[in-house]
Amino acid sequence: MDSATIDLAELDAVRVYALPMRNKFRGVTVRRGVLLSGPAGWGEFCPFEDYDDAQSVPWLRAALEACTEEWPEPVRDRIPVNCTVPAVPAEKAAAIVAASGCRTAKVKIAEPGQSPGDDVERVAAVRDALGPDGAIRVDANAAWDVDTAVTRIRELDKAAEGLEYAEQPCPTIDELAAVRRRVNVRIAADESIRRADDPLRVAVAGAADVAIIKATPLGGVRRALRVAEACGLPCVVSSAVESSVGLAAQLALAGSLPELPFACGLGTVALLDGDVVADSLLPVDGHLPVLRRPPEPDPALVAAATPTADVQRYWLDRLRRVHDLLARP
Ligand SMILES: [Mg+2]
Repeated sequence: MDSATIDLAELDAVRVYALPMRNKFRGVTVRRGVLLSGPAGWGEFCPFEDYDDAQSVPWLRAALEACTEEWPEPVRDRIPVNCTVPAVPAEKAAAIVAASGCRTAKVKIAEPGQSPGDDVERVAAVRDALGPDGAIRVDANAAWDVDTAVTRIRELDKAAEGLEYAEQPCPTIDELAAVRRRVNVRIAADESIRRADDPLRVAVAGAADVAIIKATPLGGVRRALRVAEACGLPCVVSSAVESSVGLAAQLALAGSLPELPFACGLGTVALLDGDVVADSLLPVDGHLPVLRRPPEPDPALVAAATPTADVQRYWLDRLRRVHDLLARP
């Protein structure tokens, strides 16, 4: 079945959900989306609410792929994931790492209102908690200019006794390339990769050693695999904060990449206060399983997560509009 031309009326079920976030993320306090059930199982359509219809088309492709096609054959059955350390004091950072069971920590840095010393202390505390064989990556979320990035990355590399990589230190591809030429730490591109042709642009510009990719905004597992192959960089699969239904597609991508040298950013179901499946995809010993099919939503959990009629109408209208765009020849 061609997922692009499936009639929405042929789907077995369409359910709008709303799950509160434990902490504000991208300015949102509730994650919302639509669960779609088709012949191959369940998919999740959950473009961020500030995305327009055209930007949301790949998200619908990903959802329809999950519910109408088998995912590719995986080459591994479990995925190592990183824990995420927010911009918290050093002591709390160490406790988060120790409790996570993960061997890779992603540390948020460059938080507005905090000093470079706060970042150094946090990263050093994470190294203590992880021990010498754990991996530490930092994520600046595009906060710095080139010179600041070069100085800070060198300081943090020292405090970490070796960084695995520095994620998106600056906003633009040209800046990433300039930083990359001046530091001995790998650079990863995250915000610079939003559309299918971005990873190739990043690779051609010499802007990164690592590409952060996401099945959901890249149009599904198969499309994201092709993007990964075309860019030729090692990839880290990262979530778009889906429920366990959408996250399963991300795990399918991580499971079928030919090489997976780094832990993935997929331990994110815990950011949601609740889920739509009973057996949530939460990491155990720092790993998540690769499923062959999306997990089945639990009817009682879906009912509990069903938003008001107005919110349902908003999402069903959005789904219909985006589907019209997708189906347009
Ligand atoms: Mg990032």
